[in-house]
Amino acid sequence: MTPRLELRHICKSFAGRQVVDDLSLSVAPGQVTCLLGPSGCGKSTTLRILAGVERQDSGEIYVDGEIICGPLTETAPEHRSIGLMFQDFALFPHLDVAGNVGFGLPKNEMSRVGELLEKVGLSGFEGKYPHELSGGEQQRVALARALAPRPKIMLMDEPFSGLDDRLRDGIRDETLSVLKDEGTAVLLVTHEPHEAMRMADEIALMRAGRIVQQGNPYNIYNAPVDKQAAAFFSDIN
Ligand code: ADP
Ligand code: MG
Repeated sequence: MTPRLELRHICKSFAGRQVVDDLSLSVAPGQVTCLLGPSGCGKSTTLRILAGVERQDSGEIYVDGEIICGPLTETAPEHRSIGLMFQDFALFPHLDVAGNVGFGLPKNEMSRVGELLEKVGLSGFEGKYPHELSGGEQQRVALARALAPRPKIMLMDEPFSGLDDRLRDGIRDETLSVLKDEGTAVLLVTHEPHEAMRMADEIALMRAGRIVQQGNPYNIYNAPVDKQAAAFFSDIN
């Protein structure tokens, strides 16, 4: 099957230091792939390259088998069919929930707002403002907003790290079920093995700019590629 998203041999250096080092990775349609690795290993840089806010030095990016970024191609961020959810998922404070979710949608797509609010469990919240919502509710609005334009791929960079411990697993599960229901392929960045084990169909273990192991969570957990990978998973709760 053609991957929904494919990175081939992506390299990126800052001031002569290689931060992404020949990274190849694919995300299958409808699947959640976790890019898992310690802080500073290059995860966010990889996502920024995919989102089009940073450009790779070499390598190519494909969506549904078509190149969107390479030596001779660069598709503008808004035409990549890629949605984003980052840790500080700032909603527009001056817009109500419906205004946030519907922001930038064409008029004939406005029924999407109610449909998505229902999916994230916030029917009836249309007229509320961000400051009237709890952290978990804001997170759900951010998810609805990111899904509104029907992206083929959702990039999520540690989206749950700002949440209260007590809420986190519940919101992880809810988020996953909404994404599965929409059929969106996901590349989720995290430094927490527990989060990857809970959410991923596929885990790509990253270290110093490279993928050192990729496979399903069961295999990664039970057959780590080396001592460092085993140690990384050993303090999982
Ligand atoms: P992660 O998300 O895995 O924690 P990052 O991709 O944010 O890692 O960063 C990887 C490395 O690249 C870090 O050492 C970081 O300081 C460096 N880096 C990231 N962005 C830039 C930049 N714009 N300029 C210089 N160095 C950067
Ligand atoms: Mg990061």
